[in-house]
Amino acid sequence: MQRNVRGVLLAVLIWGLFWGSTPLLAARPVQVVATFSILQDFVEQVGGEAVTVSSLVPLGADPHTWEPSPREAGLVARAELVVANGAGFDDWLLPLVKSAARPGIPLLQLSEGLVPDVDHHDHGHGHGHTADPHLWLSVPNAVAYVERIAAALTELRPELGDFFAGRAQAYIQELWALDERFRAELETIPAESRVIITYHNAFGHLAERYGFAVVEFLVENPEAEPNPRDLGRLVELLGRLDRPVVFTEPQISSGTRYMQALAREAGAAVHVLYSDSLTSEVPTYLQMMAYNLQTLVEAWR
Ligand SMILES: [Zn+2]
Repeated sequence: MQRNVRGVLLAVLIWGLFWGSTPLLAARPVQVVATFSILQDFVEQVGGEAVTVSSLVPLGADPHTWEPSPREAGLVARAELVVANGAGFDDWLLPLVKSAARPGIPLLQLSEGLVPDVDHHDHGHGHGHTADPHLWLSVPNAVAYVERIAAALTELRPELGDFFAGRAQAYIQELWALDERFRAELETIPAESRVIITYHNAFGHLAERYGFAVVEFLVENPEAEPNPRDLGRLVELLGRLDRPVVFTEPQISSGTRYMQALAREAGAAVHVLYSDSLTSEVPTYLQMMAYNLQTLVEAWR
């Protein structure tokens, strides 16, 4: 009996020390909702075991054309923080937050302020392009997203500020190493060969960062249908290239069919790039970007 009591006391003491010395495990994880899988990955990288993150758009689905269901309203209702891209990319979120989120829950729009709003900066080009919201495809923007996530999590759990800062710094180092790899490996490709033709307007920021000669697409965003004039324009462009290549994006199946038809018409090779969703093949942003880099180098070399 005596031994049992001592055993229980010891267990309680150890338990107390354990929980007392690891506020992380003692505290309830921050409940975060991200609009799509790439942002979910960023939050997980920064938050580790101190956060629980759900993605509203399922893995492999297209965030542009996706529509929320009651399941997602439930997720938003339980969230302490909602993380979105903004810049028009995931605007379907706004009514959902308005109707389902608890009052005062912060909505973090990661792209805010990172690109000028084209509506107010039209210098009369008149080509009708809206801003490309896929900022995360340029690695320095991903770094900015991660810093913003760390700041927002710290606001919610100030006692874990060092923990979030440490994880964010380690991850940002990996991101800069990825950026360096993109620069170094793409430098081996002649600038004029760096031509990227995709279904939708997703790779503008990537192209700008890593010096592509041409970035072209069939539709501005996946809600639009391609028109024959644009198909003709791309066939003609591909016809002028030494090594014509088009890139499909697996989350847009209708787009893939159009790009395959375009490739047949122009005698172009077809490769896959990931832009808007992680998949079981590329379950993290770092893996997705490493895959994209390898694909670009193989397609152009
Ligand atoms: Zn997109």
